[in-house]
Amino acid sequence: MIDPGHGGRDPGAVGINGLQEKQVIFPISLRVAELLEQQGIAVVLTRQDDSTLDLQARVDIANRARGSLFVSIHANAISLSRPDVNGVETYFASETGRRLAATLQASMLGATGMNDRGVKQARFYVLRHTAMPAALVEVGFVTGAQDAPRLADPAWRETMAQAIARGILQYIQQGG
Ligand SMILES: [Zn+2]
Repeated sequence: MIDPGHGGRDPGAVGINGLQEKQVIFPISLRVAELLEQQGIAVVLTRQDDSTLDLQARVDIANRARGSLFVSIHANAISLSRPDVNGVETYFASETGRRLAATLQASMLGATGMNDRGVKQARFYVLRHTAMPAALVEVGFVTGAQDAPRLADPAWRETMAQAIARGILQYIQQGG
């Protein structure tokens, strides 16, 4: 299960030069799905277009599909007055998601050399209510002076998509 955050009426975070979270993470999500499918992994996206989808709908799609893992893809934000805050972080809610989160974080850091903000536990709705190992990646800050130009760059997004797909494959190969 790949869950592109936000969408439709909900742009997610808005950062430097009006950069919208949904515009960053949707192409990354589609590319992650494509890369995994090329490796023979069956992928279900919670949304396939720029539609508005609430959190319960995302959980319902994942649980109905009986996904074996769930990765929600987001970009981060803090105040526009804090361009000094940059980096990648990954969340899990329950122990079943911890290794998935750690594998994804390591893969993203290895591929991009971005600032490491760590693997963290948080009670995000989509992580708590999905019935499979689940992680939420924050691929950088739309408000960050270092991150925002990267997030806006299609070549960087390809690198990030490859890193996330590689992390998922590593997790599966290590026993799922
Ligand atoms: Zn988000």
